[in-house]
Amino acid sequence: MARSGGPGSFVFGDEERKEVMDVLDGRYLFRYGAADAEGYTHKVVDFEDELKKVMGAKYAVATTSGTCSLLAALAALGIGAGDEVIVPGYTFIASISSIMLAGAIPVLAEIDESLTIDVTKIESLITPKTKAILPVHMLGNPCNLDAIMEIAKKHNLYVLEDCCQAVGASYKGKRVGTYGDIGAFSLNVFKTISTGDGGAVITNDENLYERAFGYHDQGHKPNRLGVEVGNRSLIGMNMRMNELTGAVALAQTRKLDEILETLRYKKAMLKDMLSDLPHISFRTINDEGECATLLTILFDTKELAEAFCEKTGGRPIAYSGWHVYNNMEQVLEKKLPAPTNNVNDRVYTKGMLPQTDDILGRAVNISVGVVDKGLGSGYGINILSTEDEIKQVASNIREIILSL
Ligand SMILES: *Cc1c(COP(=O)(O)O)cnc(C)c1O
Repeated sequence: MARSGGPGSFVFGDEERKEVMDVLDGRYLFRYGAADAEGYTHKVVDFEDELKKVMGAKYAVATTSGTCSLLAALAALGIGAGDEVIVPGYTFIASISSIMLAGAIPVLAEIDESLTIDVTKIESLITPKTKAILPVHMLGNPCNLDAIMEIAKKHNLYVLEDCCQAVGASYKGKRVGTYGDIGAFSLNVFKTISTGDGGAVITNDENLYERAFGYHDQGHKPNRLGVEVGNRSLIGMNMRMNELTGAVALAQTRKLDEILETLRYKKAMLKDMLSDLPHISFRTINDEGECATLLTILFDTKELAEAFCEKTGGRPIAYSGWHVYNNMEQVLEKKLPAPTNNVNDRVYTKGMLPQTDDILGRAVNISVGVVDKGLGSGYGINILSTEDEIKQVASNIREIILSL
């Protein structure tokens, strides 16, 4: 079976190997250590520093996953029982479930043809309980951040950017994750860069950093510096990244811009070869700084999208079990693991977002860098594809579309 995964995982090489071997040779796998601790190679700290530099953020906390990053970010913002958070209905399940696990109430929003939150529909969802907007830079495409930030400012709401699928994307020259109050990243196997599993939170706010850090490690102050007894600011979890993961994260972060450049080049080539076809358009890209991990085709009708997918062995995005609210039965049924103080009397039903359903029924993902059946992108190219391979895939797609 062909390899699946994100572009970072396709380019694991000597750089990752060297960083991991440093850790193993030092036999020191815990993220904390004194500067002179024997064998300590501080890969997690170096990864956090590298991430801050690349993103242009003041603070970063490495975590064990994107889901944990979202939970730490929600905790940092103090979001909990009774608070409403506006989130798109097309996203990976964790954007919605993390809100529920924090004890808060997700308010599902429509997407537009960018496949990110429809900014014209946000204000009508705001109530006195609304605390935050959780925009998701879906499939590598930055949201319309100018509009989102304006709405947030006007209504005094926090913005938590879910950057899990858009690590490294930029909007108007600035990286996503630095527009809102706090940003969450994932390094799982399907993301732009990967450690198998892992994540990070970034922010420019010192207080949010301390709270996110504390939540990620038993309430400790950043890097457990100083005497902790009597000093811990909140009750936290253990979401600490270990040094082996940090080693891979460091090497992958150093490759991020090269990965993005390659993807943008290959996506442009593929897209150009398909630009004159009938029955289709492409989703709106909000900024050229997108990750170019996927090419999303919007067919004129649902029937055409399905007929196309029958030939490629995939399915339109609407069928994605992990990413479409309609298919998240545990969310729709509010199946929390245990009772909470939360009174969430919102009703979540299939079909409650008709605009989202219409778009996703006609939308098909072609892989450019993220090869993931779960995302509907089992078919396409990958970061290592040669020009000839890209031409071949383009010609197959052309042939199928012209035969519909
Ligand atoms: C992958 C992803 C997450 C969760 O990341 P994990 O590392 O798998 O926990 C959250 N939100 C979005 C939009 C994602 O794509």
